[in-house]
Amino acid sequence: MTDHSCLFCKMVARTIPVKRVHEDDRCIAIEDINPQAPTHVLVMPRTHIATLNDLAAADEALAGHLLRVGAEIARGRGHADAGWRATFNVNRGAGQTVFHIHLHVLGGRPFSWPPG
Ligand code: AMP
Ligand code: ZN
Repeated sequence: MTDHSCLFCKMVARTIPVKRVHEDDRCIAIEDINPQAPTHVLVMPRTHIATLNDLAAADEALAGHLLRVGAEIARGRGHADAGWRATFNVNRGAGQTVFHIHLHVLGGRPFSWPPG
């Protein structure tokens, strides 16, 4: 449920204070400390799930909730029509550095494809 060595669990538990741009009963969202776009928000579940590889069938609704919250944040910042990027990095080979799943919501600049 909670991993006391996990940075994002500590943010959820308020052991580490961080400004929340959204919170509800299932997730919180914060500004990324090292933004890669004018909008760079991280949406994370309150429960500790290390990677998307660890998602259980029981987590399906939660995963969908993270995406819907991310879309609402992107819409609220005016990115819905211009386009925005939703990213989950999975494991180190894809750039994951914090092992508590989080949706990157990136917006406010053009994005290329394929991603690097
Ligand atoms: P990832 O590399 O996909 O695991 O994403 C982790 C993200 O967390 C990176 O974009 C980091 O910049 C961000 N991050 C790390 N520490 C903090 C922090 N203290 N506050 C906000 N964002 C952070
Ligand atoms: Zn955690």
